Amino acid sequence: MNRISHWVDGRVLEGTSGRTGVVFDPATGQQASAVDLASASEVDVAVAAAKKAFPGWRSTNLSRRAEVLFHMRELVDANRKEIATLISREHGKVLGDALGEVARGLENIEFACGIPNLLKGGYSEQASTGIDVYSIKQPLGVVAGITPFNFPGMVPMWMFANALACGNTFILKPSEKDPSTSMFVAELLKQAGLPDGCFNVVNGDKEAVDRILEHPDIAAVSFVGSTPIAKYIYETGTRNGKRVQALGGAKNHMLVLPDADLDMAADAAVSAGYGSAGERCMAISVVLASDSIADALVEKIKQRIPAIKVGPASESESEMGPLLTGEHRDKVAGYIAGAEGEGAKLVVDGREGAPSEGFFLNPSLIDNAKPGMKVYDDEIFGPVLTVTRISGYQEGLQLINDNPYGNGTAIFTRDGGAARQFEFDVQVGMVGVNVPVPVPVSYYSFGGWKASLFGDTHMYGPEGVNFYTKTKVVTSRWPDPSTSTVDLGFPQNR
Ligand code: NAD
Repeated sequence: MNRISHWVDGRVLEGTSGRTGVVFDPATGQQASAVDLASASEVDVAVAAAKKAFPGWRSTNLSRRAEVLFHMRELVDANRKEIATLISREHGKVLGDALGEVARGLENIEFACGIPNLLKGGYSEQASTGIDVYSIKQPLGVVAGITPFNFPGMVPMWMFANALACGNTFILKPSEKDPSTSMFVAELLKQAGLPDGCFNVVNGDKEAVDRILEHPDIAAVSFVGSTPIAKYIYETGTRNGKRVQALGGAKNHMLVLPDADLDMAADAAVSAGYGSAGERCMAISVVLASDSIADALVEKIKQRIPAIKVGPASESESEMGPLLTGEHRDKVAGYIAGAEGEGAKLVVDGREGAPSEGFFLNPSLIDNAKPGMKVYDDEIFGPVLTVTRISGYQEGLQLINDNPYGNGTAIFTRDGGAARQFEFDVQVGMVGVNVPVPVPVSYYSFGGWKASLFGDTHMYGPEGVNFYTKTKVVTSRWPDPSTSTVDLGFPQNR
């Protein structure tokens, strides 16, 4: 049985806790590997390595840090296929989708290559007579990232690229469901020239997470995962004095106005609803269809579903892979099973005809979903699109703003004025205008509102740099000794 251990101080460290987790091949349903689950004391070993590496790394000049990131950029680029294959094998997403994930992760390393520019502070000459004031950004120390199963390549890159570039050292606790990509990335960072101890991978579950949250030598925690755990991470981490950004779950609505191009809207709903088997935090799960076009839109989505090729990532024609585990597949199937009993209409039942081996479901389409139904209220995180019929813009907007989540949303319309009004009104962090999955490019920042993010800073981009640094302001005088006097008054400029 393949065994996945930890990566500490620049090398593989075999786990000693005696606890392991199961990593499946979701396309066959068979166990593929056993992953070591760290004990609290194994987390301590990794944190000690990161703490030891910190003074050297934070003193490493900016050109050299940028050079390591440029090397890493080249290595990830050269190994796109290998990384994507690792992702596909454990997560189940098809290769094209996994390659897209690597590309979007790589953007973050490219952004961090500009770190000398990003860390520039401000400078005010002659703030008072003979006095200059300037600000500098310094790293926090040892920082940790705790990541979800659905983007085992990209989400760690959202975090470690900026964290390392800013001069921090890093502990990554990836999802225990698909940990191999993180181990490979650790090897690449070493090849890129990152000193040992600067990047460590601790595989594990709640025990490792809880130690990270209480460890006195960890200054900050970035988290991406489901909302209940995000809330727990934020509350526990901040109670222990850490800086925390914790991104949670989502229920993303796509508002389709009567003037929208319905073929474009149907293509977008199908792509964004069923891509990656719906296991994306930016997936569209609710289509808000204006009454006058709802029948036509439902029909267009329904027509497109049979053409989607569901199959294992290893088959090149597959467009949608399996779900992560049998347990998760059964949970999603439960929502489909319960939909009609709640009063919704099951238009396409994805439980029918799915491959029998592995954790597959075919795409499902549910019409007439409404608030109060589980299919509408819960984050299903599977290949299930629900349609809610609305009278028009105002009702659609109200539903989005009343939803407890606020990660992503999209409006489909040809009316620029309506789109602009939507941007202005909507209580959601990331908005698409005729773009169904509006994940910001790496030089903006990623973050939802409401129950989709706990904390004050969004992830990656400029806000990522702010998260991983603290600002110091220096007020400086090079005095002329002849002007020196004792003055007990509060310093004034005039
Ligand atoms: P999850 O919350 O179950 O797990 C995320 C991480 O938390 C994993 O590393 C896991 O080991 C750890 N964890 C799980 N249970 C824990 C517990 N009780 N105590 C401490 N740590 C625990 O999420 P998941 O199933 O891996 O990922 C899917 C979820 O992530 C979805 O809700 C999805 O919307 C969300 N997500 C959000 C974003 C975003 O940017 N907002 C991005 C990707 C995924």
